[in-house]
Amino acid sequence: MSTENPYFELFQKQKAHQFQIGNTTYKERIAKLKRLQEALEKTYRQAICEALFADFKKPFLETDLTEIYPVVDEIKFTISNLKTWLKHEKVATPVSMLGSSSFIVNEPKGVCLIISPWNYPINLTFGPLVSAIAGGNTVILKPSEMTPNTSKLMAKIVLELFDENEIALVEGEVETSSALLELPFNHIFFTGSPAVGKIVMKAASKHLTSVTLELGGKSPTIIDDSSNLEKAVKKIVYGKCTNAGQTCIAPDYVLLQESLKPEFVKLFKQEVKTFYSENPESSESYSRIVNSKHFERLTKALEDAKSKGSLVEAGGRSKAADCYIEPTLVSGIPENATLMEDEIFGPILPLKTYRAIEDAVGYVNANEKPLALYIFSKNKKTIDYVIGNTRAGSTCVNHNLLQFLNHNLPFGGSNNSGIGKSHGVFGFHEFTNQRSVLKQHTIGAVDLLMPPYTGWKQKLVD
Ligand code: NAD
Repeated sequence: MSTENPYFELFQKQKAHQFQIGNTTYKERIAKLKRLQEALEKTYRQAICEALFADFKKPFLETDLTEIYPVVDEIKFTISNLKTWLKHEKVATPVSMLGSSSFIVNEPKGVCLIISPWNYPINLTFGPLVSAIAGGNTVILKPSEMTPNTSKLMAKIVLELFDENEIALVEGEVETSSALLELPFNHIFFTGSPAVGKIVMKAASKHLTSVTLELGGKSPTIIDDSSNLEKAVKKIVYGKCTNAGQTCIAPDYVLLQESLKPEFVKLFKQEVKTFYSENPESSESYSRIVNSKHFERLTKALEDAKSKGSLVEAGGRSKAADCYIEPTLVSGIPENATLMEDEIFGPILPLKTYRAIEDAVGYVNANEKPLALYIFSKNKKTIDYVIGNTRAGSTCVNHNLLQFLNHNLPFGGSNNSGIGKSHGVFGFHEFTNQRSVLKQHTIGAVDLLMPPYTGWKQKLVD
């Protein structure tokens, strides 16, 4: 480890402090969480809304619902469970070890790094931080450079609430991330793209640092002909257009039972109009694409699909100066189009049709395991068939996005969409090591069977 690393000193300070933080009581950890809750819910609520509006015109109410509320909820859930999570968990001891007792201690991992993306910067930086604090760790946070107003505000909040020996926030771009990744952290919690996830895992392997990788990918939505199509389309437009589609678990594309297509297109147009008016550009409920790089990536992907024969069924307008892209529905997309190859991460929805449910499932399985898979159906057999014959990080039946909000459910992907889980006790476990303790009280069978293996001991195996 190079002492020239710009974060070496900070890392060393946290390392020196880790046992002090690790030995804090659950009450002390709760007090810290409450300080964070107060900052998010009261002191900085308005400033957070303003920062996200400045970054990509995120509507204030959406910030409340998708950024502040989930973290505050995670804090409340953690506060009400932390005492139980920190209790030594007694487990049975085999009869052969009579005279001993066994228990599990959820000990802190130590010095942790949290690297977060730009799409929900508050939620995905402070959410994992809640679990890290609950686990008794010291933490360095590295938010994304793409939402500079929000990152700057988070730096201010962290500086105000915590001692840097315990929790510090470092702002910066890829070089900052790369420098941090050289350090021998005890755990890295990364949220971002699968491509960068691989870089993080490679860097972590150098020190055998454990990782949680919350990644992305293409999340399919399967709709069958038993579903309530009107309700399904309303929820899909909501899932696809919240945050202008820049959501890791947004429905990436739709697999629709063939006969439903004309009705789906009609309902899509109708729901977009209901949510965002005839002209979504003027709607105060609709965000912008985060920057011109991502705007160009999306508009190019749409042009690419059009040039390969796809049809824009609804929307399609955009404005570069404002990074605005209208909610857009596209059909007839060939497999070699960027829209079907890469995660879309924007308000463009590919519509694919299928005849038999087996074909839809086959299509999903021919691609990487998704972070989320959605099913709109009233048919239990279809629902069970899809769940049983596909693999995904999470599934929501007859809605989308909601699975993120239940802290009793683990949140995360599988293979290409992620490794490890977050939220509630699952997040707490990512930031703790389950240490086994066996305590001997009186002499046991093993002690009697120690060498030399002679006399009566030898006779046991004769
Ligand atoms: P990203 O992977 O480009 O960046 C994430 C973080 O990594 C940022 O802080 C960035 O500065 C840093 N980074 C970027 N390149 C790096 C490199 N070469 N080396 C080291 N660090 C680097 O992701 P993004 O564009 O910020 O976010 C979008 C992606 O994140 C999408 O794929 C989305 O699906 C995924 N995502 C996943 C979840 C989840 O919970 N699973 C949540 C939100 C977003």
